[in-house]
Amino acid sequence: MTMQTSTAGAAATSAGTGAGAALRIAGLVKDYGPVHAVRGIDLEVRRGEVFGFLGPNGAGKTTTIRCVLDLLRPTAGSIEVLGLDPHADGVAVRSRVAYVPGELRLPERLTGAELVASIGRLRGGHDPRRRDELAARLDLDLGRRMRDLSSGNRRKVALLLAFLARADLLVLDEPTNGLDPLMQHEFLRLVREARDEGTTVFLSSHVLSEVQRAADRVAVLRAGRIVALGTVDDLRGRARQRVEVWFADDPPASELAGVSGLDDMTIDDHRLTAVLSGPIQPLLAVLARHRVASLLVEEPDLEETFLDLYAEAS
Ligand code: ATP
Repeated sequence: MTMQTSTAGAAATSAGTGAGAALRIAGLVKDYGPVHAVRGIDLEVRRGEVFGFLGPNGAGKTTTIRCVLDLLRPTAGSIEVLGLDPHADGVAVRSRVAYVPGELRLPERLTGAELVASIGRLRGGHDPRRRDELAARLDLDLGRRMRDLSSGNRRKVALLLAFLARADLLVLDEPTNGLDPLMQHEFLRLVREARDEGTTVFLSSHVLSEVQRAADRVAVLRAGRIVALGTVDDLRGRARQRVEVWFADDPPASELAGVSGLDDMTIDDHRLTAVLSGPIQPLLAVLARHRVASLLVEEPDLEETFLDLYAEAS
């Protein structure tokens, strides 16, 4: 089974506690033979934040995570987890990190309760009330064997183990795969609660909406490189807005063509439609010289921004 769990108590005794980043990645490169999966990533995740790691399939998210957890050796670069070297201090790192991989391998013959108990024994026990509370919230029957569970229920088992661990750092790879919308909602509540208790959450996903709802900051990965990094609002600031202007007279086509950031222009009688990226001031400066009957600027769609970012970097 590929899952590490931790005891919160271990945090106090390990080196590297206190201030600093939860995760530091510098110049990370990972090649699989001729495949350049990660092409130079620099990233710092602050303690106590929910950090979204967004990117399409094949962008290099899982490879990055596997390097962070020392499940893969990087081709180049350095990594620090909770102030520790994940290779040299592997035992200490694993005791403080809970990891839910995208592809779960669970011991098929065990029931949920047996699995929770065996992992509990490895890390010196768990709180049975917390276990039962998590099972109830995730609507999970711990009496069933792994082999009899649907993929959604297997995912719930893995999430229960991760949240039960009360780790300092939760690393979740595509965590809501197979969960229905109600459970996705409950999962996001658990993430926010963990954050409020001081846990750092690294949330890898190709689903923008879940990251948007949970993350304090987001990195967008494309083809092994980070193409955007910031808060969800920062991403929104980079978004393209749809603009519609109704002029009282004929639209000033040549002046509008010179406005920076204004693309996909269509002029239909007195009406202009276009897409604006960047600041609106240059457009307003042109409009101010003409009689404008009405102006509409639509709130940017983050989904589109996200797709734009993917496209920009391709
Ligand atoms: P997904 O969500 O599909 O897993 P991802 O963003 O996690 O995507 P990775 O799984 O890290 O991406 O894959 C990055 C690139 O490396 C892809 O081109 C993938 O095909 C390739 N790759 C991943 N694992 C291996 C491997 N063991 N051998 C060769 N190539 C690999």
